[in-house]
Amino acid sequence: MTSTKTKQHKRIAIIGAGPGGLTLALILQRHGISSVIYEREQHDKSHERGGSLDIHEDSGQLAIKEAGLFEAFQRLARYEGEDFRLFDKTGKIYMDEIVEQDSMGERPEIDRGELCDLLLSKLDPAQIKYDYTLDHAVTLENGLTELHFKNGFVETADLVIGADGAFSRVRPLLSDVDVEYAGLTMFELNVLDAARRYPDLSAFNRRGKVFALDDHKGILAQLNGDGRIKVYVSLKVDRDWLETSGISCDDPKAAKSSMLELLTDWGEQLHKYIHYADDTVLPRRIYMLPVGFRWKRNPSVTLIGDAAHVMSPFAGEGVNLAMQDAMELALAIVRNDDVSVAIQEYEDKMYVYSSEKARVSYDNLVLCFSQEAAPKLAELMSSYHE
Ligand SMILES: Cc1cc2nc3c(=O)[nH]c(=O)nc-3n(C[C@H](O)[C@H](O)[C@H](O)COP(=O)(O)OP(=O)(O)OC[C@H]3O[C@@H](n4cnc5c(N)ncnc54)[C@H](O)[C@@H]3O)c2cc1C
Repeated sequence: MTSTKTKQHKRIAIIGAGPGGLTLALILQRHGISSVIYEREQHDKSHERGGSLDIHEDSGQLAIKEAGLFEAFQRLARYEGEDFRLFDKTGKIYMDEIVEQDSMGERPEIDRGELCDLLLSKLDPAQIKYDYTLDHAVTLENGLTELHFKNGFVETADLVIGADGAFSRVRPLLSDVDVEYAGLTMFELNVLDAARRYPDLSAFNRRGKVFALDDHKGILAQLNGDGRIKVYVSLKVDRDWLETSGISCDDPKAAKSSMLELLTDWGEQLHKYIHYADDTVLPRRIYMLPVGFRWKRNPSVTLIGDAAHVMSPFAGEGVNLAMQDAMELALAIVRNDDVSVAIQEYEDKMYVYSSEKARVSYDNLVLCFSQEAAPKLAELMSSYHE
């Protein structure tokens, strides 16, 4: 049974204030439809909100335009962040792309935290509740959904949108399928204030991204807006490798020594990404939903972003798809009085474009951690430019 309230009076609950949830709430707000976002983090935990993300012209940027923030975005975006260099372990270079001065490329960079702040700057603060971690959700007989939060509060909503990332607590309402390990484990490192403290590495890294790939391993580095170079030392290993390897991130110095041993025959310049990193090491396993994942349709619950189709970061699509989903769903809600029709329109469209990107992302992951990965990736990327 679904509620007969008009959409302006329906209680719309969005779980998660990442780029997806915020974009959705903001576009709805611009059309006079209010919603409430429930976010697990505290409001003030804004300093560690992720690295640099490239925002694509045909998806993320369209959503930003729909949210009315494109000019403000252009002022913050780092167009020069599209610089890209590709090496093998010896330091042999396969690609060296430099964005021309003042050029406005298609995929400028912005830090995840800055992007969230931009979206928050226009969102009515009454529409977001912090420190609300969804524990579980229950569909009631009257068609409403009951939301149980870890802080003890219970709320009900006519429409629930899971924008709560890879480990979504809304997804179990729709499917038994869970994320699976994508075969890749990373150590996240940060070289802080790189230009001032380590000009040699800063000159090598330039203004954007560096990939060094070889022997089923990788060093992936990217300059962020706050001057740090974020580095991911990436290994194709079994899921339990972190435990069995004996490497503990609680002892960052020892962990960094172990990384250097694992990459002992890699070039001196590449080692600097580890030598110069500060003493915080974060382990990250990469998870994905099956390519082409779909769920059983529910007239009052749906998913957007990583909750709907988390994939490895090797197509650079995570944030772009999340924002595109948000735009498509918001506009479908605006167009239709019946939210179940809006959900159907959105899901039918989203399944098509997201499964294509999930396939590319998975294929890129396999390629980047195969033998001779650097020349293979260079060949693939040059085919895009032909
Ligand atoms: C802290 C963080 C850092 C990241 N850093 C990078 C990066 O450097 N590079 C990159 O490519 N991608 C990064 N990502 C992933 C990237 O942001 C996503 O792929 C993309 O933005 C998809 O957006 P989303 O809104 O669907 O999900 P997310 O960005 O994952 O946002 C989900 C939101 O939901 C909240 N949430 C989760 N569970 C619950 C719950 N149970 N109850 C309430 N709220 C909940 C989270 O706190 C978060 O705010 C990061 C994600 C996070 C959460």
